[in-house]
This record gives sequence, structure tokens and C-alpha cells, in this order.
Amino acid sequence: MNSSPFYMLKSNNNTHGGYSLSMKILDGKKISAEIRSSIRKESEELKARGVNPTLAVVLIGEDPASKVYVGRKEKGCEEVGFTSRKYALPVETAQEELLALVKKLNEDKDVHGILVQFPLPGHLCQTAILAAMAPEKDVDGFHALNVGRLFSGLPCFEPCTPKGIIKLIEYAGITIEGKNAVVIGRSNIVGKPVAAMLLARNATVTITHSKTRDLAEIVRQADIVVAAIGKPRFVTADMIKEGALVIDVGINRIPEGLVGDVDYEAVSRKASWITPVPGGVGPMTIAMLLQNTLKAVKGNIVG
Ligand code: NAD
Repeated sequence: MNSSPFYMLKSNNNTHGGYSLSMKILDGKKISAEIRSSIRKESEELKARGVNPTLAVVLIGEDPASKVYVGRKEKGCEEVGFTSRKYALPVETAQEELLALVKKLNEDKDVHGILVQFPLPGHLCQTAILAAMAPEKDVDGFHALNVGRLFSGLPCFEPCTPKGIIKLIEYAGITIEGKNAVVIGRSNIVGKPVAAMLLARNATVTITHSKTRDLAEIVRQADIVVAAIGKPRFVTADMIKEGALVIDVGINRIPEGLVGDVDYEAVSRKASWITPVPGGVGPMTIAMLLQNTLKAVKGNIVG
């Protein structure tokens, strides 16, 4: 693979079946490695000054996907020299116990960031847990205060996946201002916040969802497409404008392996930029979590 975070696919000289000559892959793996390396430097400087960046990660129950995500976050911390403190609690943990743990972590001066892995088991209230968290330690950016500040254009912890998406677009050198951006999906963790962040950068943003009419026609108008749906290869080439930038957030496990929400092979032939799955948005999400943790540390230092 090329050493650049963006690499161009060679045409196979087939004008119909080949990739567009100018299509470039936004390599989240490589870009996130560069970001992690700069975080590591800052982490070392902080440690030399006696500050030990620490992220508390709370996992309730045995959900296999959650365990994988928590494992990746712990590995990310290790790579940049942060301490990750894992709190693995049984699935039957009561709401009061979890609230007490969050309160304890809020007050712990040695803990800079707190992350409670979602989804929680059904008997636990996600809203109440988030509300109990100190907003200045909410490195996931899910606390209502951070969400409100994001939508108001005020400084805040930006949620990690949308923040990673914006970084990818910026790394590609693509101007967001004035572009038509279509976000497919309106979840609180991806669709809505990424739409707010694109809007803040002066894109004209359309948020689409499962009840949207004429979705394909709307997506065809987009210079920037963000697909966060959770349906394998849902976005097909006929929905994409020639030269669009396509960000695929989806992670779908099918018998062939992991695939995104975008029909990668076919869409690659029309897009100017595209993110692969795996190796696109996923690694950026972890890098942004580490960046937010660093921000939490600095917040504590600056006061
Ligand atoms: P979600 O299930 O909360 O939301 C899915 C959204 O897709 C909904 O808003 C729904 O309206 C929309 N949708 C469903 N069917 C649709 C249709 N036919 N047409 C248009 N819109 C439709 O999902 P989410 O949490 O936003 O995650 C989306 C995907 O992204 C999942 O595959 C998830 O695993 C993945 N994800 C990846 C990362 C990462 O770091 N790479 C992070 C978060 C989520």
C-alpha cells in the first residue's frame, strides 16, 4: 500500500468495469495512526509533568460486540500511553450501583474521562446514566449539555464517530462549505451530530431516514454522502452522483465478513473519495476518543 493516507486505485483500463482514475480511498487506519502518534507525544509530555491521562471504561454485562469495542478502546489507550481503568460489572447490576460508580468516577481527580459502553442492559436507563456523568468527563460527547453545546456551535466534547468523519473529510482536503451533504440515518450518535457538524461548516445538509421519500433522488444531489444506516450495501451506485465523497459508517457482519452500508465495489467507480469498511471510520472513532480524553486532561490542567 502507498505510504500516503490517501491512495489512488489504478484503473484496469476498462472504462465500464474499472475504478474511476481519480477515485481515492480515505484510509482511516493510516490517518488514525498519525493522530495516535501525535497524541502519544503529548501524552509523554504530560506524564513528564506528573499528569497521567486516565480513561475509565465501564462495561455492563457480556454483550460480545460491546466487549470487542471496549477491548479496542483499551488497546487505543495503551498505544498512546494512557491508563485505561476498566470496570466490568455483571449484567444484573442495579441502576443505583451504576449511578454510584459514575458519581465516584466524577469525583475521582485521577480520572479524566468516563465512558459507559452502550447499549446498556434493558433494565438500566441510559438517559439517567448520562445525566449523572460530569459533562467535563463525558469524552463520548453524549451528555445533554455537550449535545446542546454542539448544536449551538459552542465548544464541547464532540461525539467520536462524527468527529472522526469530519477529520477524514478535512484530511482529504475537501472543502465542506457550500457543498450539498446528505446524511442517511438520524441516530443520536452518528446521523444527527454529524449533520450538525457539517452544518456548522456551512454545508447545505439534508438528513434522511427510514421514512424519507425518494431517498435515491435526494442522495443523487449530494456532493458528500454519509451513510449511517446499519444495512449491508444499502447505498448503491445509482444513488451516487459522479465525483461525490462517500463516507461509509456502517459495520455489518454478513457471511462473507464485515461490510459497510455502501456497495463499495460499485460506488467506488463513481465516487471521488470513499472510506473502506473495515479501515475507514472505525479506527477514526477510537482516535477521536483518545483525542477527547486528551482534551479532558487539558481541561483539568487549565481549570
Ligand atoms: P441506528 O440503528 O441507531 O440508526 C439507523 C438509522 O438508519 C435510523 O435513523 C434509520 O431511520 C435509518 N434507516 C434505517 N433504514 C433506512 C432506510 N431504509 N432508508 C433510510 N434510512 C434508514 O444506527 P447507528 O447507531 O447510527 O449506526 C449505523 C451504522 O453505523 C451501524 O451499522 C453501526 O454499527 C455503525 N456504526 C459504526 C461506528 C464506527 O465507529 N464505525 C460507530 C457507530 C455506528
